[in-house]
Amino acid sequence: MKRALFPGSFDPITNGHIEIVRRGLLLFDEIIIGIGLNTAKQAMFSPDQRQRWIEEAFKDEPRIKVHLYTGLTVHFAREVEARFILRGLRSAPDYEYERNIDLLNKYLDAEIETFYLLSSPETSFVSSTLVREVIRFHGHLEGLLPPHIIRDIYGLYPGGGPVSAPSAKSS
Ligand code: ADP
Repeated sequence: MKRALFPGSFDPITNGHIEIVRRGLLLFDEIIIGIGLNTAKQAMFSPDQRQRWIEEAFKDEPRIKVHLYTGLTVHFAREVEARFILRGLRSAPDYEYERNIDLLNKYLDAEIETFYLLSSPETSFVSSTLVREVIRFHGHLEGLLPPHIIRDIYGLYPGGGPVSAPSAKSS
């Protein structure tokens, strides 16, 4: 059984993440999506909300499980018995960032191997950070997020995002 951990913040999960996970299923028997809760980043969406959205996105796929975790990613990989970590690469800065994490993870646990998939051209510009900006400033979300998440966000924030932007509101 080849089990991989796909770690990240998923605040929120985007079509870019979903594409990587679906392609990851060609390589792995099971993928655990681990929502890491100990980053310094201030999250826009609650851990439970993020988990529900991911579960809904993959409700047709029993080989995908979703967990919340704190602590080091390699420790969590051990805990869920995942020998592999899956990550996506969009660009050269992603590569630089991932390389350091990879070296650190290898230093911490040499037996866990990380695999990288290049993002598709359709989603290589999509990041959760940019999507949060689009939500805040009332931009179009179609194509960036799955429809069920867009529906919920419109419901959560009728008329736009959670942070009122003076310039966007007055226009
Ligand atoms: P982090 O919070 O560690 O930056 P993210 O939640 O943003 O993690 O992303 C988790 C993983 O998904 C990372 O490997 C990241 O490179 C990858 N990823 C994010 N967006 C995309 C995308 N549009 N295409 C491919 N991979 C992506």
